Amino acid sequence: MRTVTLAALAFGASTLLALPSALAEERLQVVTSFSILGDMVEQVGGDRVSVTSLVGPDSDTHVYSPSPRDARALAEADLVVFNGLRFEGWMERLIDSSDYAGPRVTASDGIEPLDVAGHDDHGHDDHGHGHDDHADSDAHDDHAHGDQDPHGWQDLSQGVVYVSNIRDGLIEADPANEASYRENAKRYIGELEATDAEIREWLAEIPTGTSVITGHDSFGYFASAYGLRFLSPVGLSSEAEPSAADMARLIDVIREENVHALFHENMTSPAIIEQLAEETGLSIAGTLYADALAVEGEASTYLGMMRHNARTLHDALAEPGHDGRDDDHGHDDHGHDHDHSHDHDDHEH
Ligand SMILES: [Zn+2]
Repeated sequence: MRTVTLAALAFGASTLLALPSALAEERLQVVTSFSILGDMVEQVGGDRVSVTSLVGPDSDTHVYSPSPRDARALAEADLVVFNGLRFEGWMERLIDSSDYAGPRVTASDGIEPLDVAGHDDHGHDDHGHGHDDHADSDAHDDHAHGDQDPHGWQDLSQGVVYVSNIRDGLIEADPANEASYRENAKRYIGELEATDAEIREWLAEIPTGTSVITGHDSFGYFASAYGLRFLSPVGLSSEAEPSAADMARLIDVIREENVHALFHENMTSPAIIEQLAEETGLSIAGTLYADALAVEGEASTYLGMMRHNARTLHDALAEPGHDGRDDDHGHDDHGHDHDHSHDHDDHEH
């Protein structure tokens, strides 16, 4: 990387001898489709990799169009990582149309996929917001109308599968550093598992059956893992625009059912959620990170984003004491209001 080179020059030749062996120019060049995968690769690759995420923080992968710059990044890549499950069909087309011949990691390989019908179990079907409506899908048939929900990272136990796939891809692309990748992945998976346990504890304080509204259906895995019900005005892709009829049906659902709050998503337009708030009188209780990390702050890493989402939901929806576990302590005792020490300061964005 340029910055390291310039710094090395500035410090003079004697300092060069003290530089770590993994000079930036020798780093494995990894291209990922979007920011969440980029962070996972940085966690496992450490200083042995240089990561380029084609879709950056706070940006929407569903509607992305690759640029010539992206094609050039791919041409120089040693490893390519994407989600799969038709999340980013543009990425697979980009790889196929390039000369890239190196290893590719489909990060979602081997997760337990939720199919679209699986949403029915969580009540997503009863308001007809378009899962079965292929008639209007001509413009975005690559993106959202696969049979399976692509947003697997929203369940940390599936995130472990993502990280394992990334570890294996790094080892394939750079076998000389296998031990390092294995060690980093083991540590990181331990953190994922600890965070999974931690956020389960917070979310257990939210009464069963609580429903919330988000911008699109990005929280199916979160709902399945952690027990909330998420509704949205559109389907699995942010690309679909809700029709007036979709909105009217959702407003009916909000009025009839146990819907408690609305949440913005960081990477989709706030307009629809604001319209729903206006028409229903429900409050907008915060921003959830769905398909992209934040530019900075806690949600700028995958683990931080999962904590942020769980805490935001908890703080809006928990009823202390509802399950009998919290009668004698407030939620400060869970430590999550003041524990930002897990922010990973060691990588830059
Ligand atoms: Zn999405």
